[in-house]
Amino acid sequence: MLRTARSLPIYSGASVDTLQRPLRDVRLSVTDRCNFRCSYCMPAEIFGPDFAFLPRDELLTFEELALVARELVALGARTLRITGGEPLVRRDLERLVVMLRALDSSEALNGEPLDLALTTNGSLLAKLAAPLRIAGLNRITVSLDSLNPETFTRMSGSALPLESVLGGIAAATAAGFTNIKLNAVIRRGVNDADVPALAAFAREGGHTLRLIEYMDVGSSNGWRLDEVVPASEILAQLHALYPLEPLAPSRPGEVANRYRYLDRRGEIGLIASVSAPFCGDCTRARVSADGHLYTCLFASEGSDLKRYLRPAPDAAALRDALHTRWSARDDRYSEIRDSETANRLPKVEMFRVGG
Ligand code: SAM
Ligand code: SF4
Ligand code: SF4
Repeated sequence: MLRTARSLPIYSGASVDTLQRPLRDVRLSVTDRCNFRCSYCMPAEIFGPDFAFLPRDELLTFEELALVARELVALGARTLRITGGEPLVRRDLERLVVMLRALDSSEALNGEPLDLALTTNGSLLAKLAAPLRIAGLNRITVSLDSLNPETFTRMSGSALPLESVLGGIAAATAAGFTNIKLNAVIRRGVNDADVPALAAFAREGGHTLRLIEYMDVGSSNGWRLDEVVPASEILAQLHALYPLEPLAPSRPGEVANRYRYLDRRGEIGLIASVSAPFCGDCTRARVSADGHLYTCLFASEGSDLKRYLRPAPDAAALRDALHTRWSARDDRYSEIRDSETANRLPKVEMFRVGG
């Protein structure tokens, strides 16, 4: 197997971009709808009851999503993460998981199973965790910004209580998911004081807490640099409570900086996308629910894949288009961001491309 200068493995037949980054991770968004209105993603003032989400026939069908995934696997993808919007609001999601799991037999994988993951706000997980596990999902990430019910509601913008998410995490554990990741976006003055409680909860449950810097995604959240709590500050706060030591990345292209508690009761990850960008290792492609390929979280436009899917799918043309687009990729937004560009350029909204 070849490796890039940054030691990212390149599978034979894999697509590599202009900065020598192989295609490796895929986020498949299954819907742009959500039952939460997190202020940093889909603020309720903007995404109110009259907001026009995608009409149903614009969404890729599960068959179309599985075909896109199959071609991306042929081009090097090894992790498929289902996301949204809130992916669990899409009906029968287990059926998609079964179809994606069937890609394990792809020639490109040489018998190595796909890493099949889901990111969810957890509020609908209590009922769905077991069927998703049976369908073949192997990893779950639940977003959880606070254990304080008031702060939780202020951040989620939803009438659904904190208990719905905690019940979802418990159900996922009971269904056999291990090493569940808990994602918390930290905003100064909003939930930065909640980090110790989140860490204690994650340690207790055997989960991995991932603390994420608040990002200037989309054009709706009114992002301000002074609301970003740098990962180094969060790390110092936690280290004072629970001493930590750094860990090596668990896999090439890992975006979180990992630390282990010295008492060996688990680990945390810090995602310093603003203060210490990791574009050099970014191997992620994102497919929106209406079938556009985005090569960067901060892109303004995606490439329309539907033209290779409808009226009838043309797999060869689709693979060609995916390869051509990835090969031309030169995105490194976070490395060149400054506070002016952050709020000036139009960018795709996070709930369209799934984080
Ligand atoms: N609805 C699901 C959820 O919340 O987990 C999946 C989609 S959501 C867009 C994926 C991830 O993006 C979540 O963990 C969320 O916290 C994160 N996210 C959304 N907006 C963000 C922002 N402005 N900065 C950092 N992370 C953000
Ligand atoms: Fe919905 Fe997830 Fe965005 Fe929150 S972060 S509004 S749960 S898509
Ligand atoms: Fe990847 Fe774009 Fe984020 Fe850089 S800014 S890490 S290229 S998604």
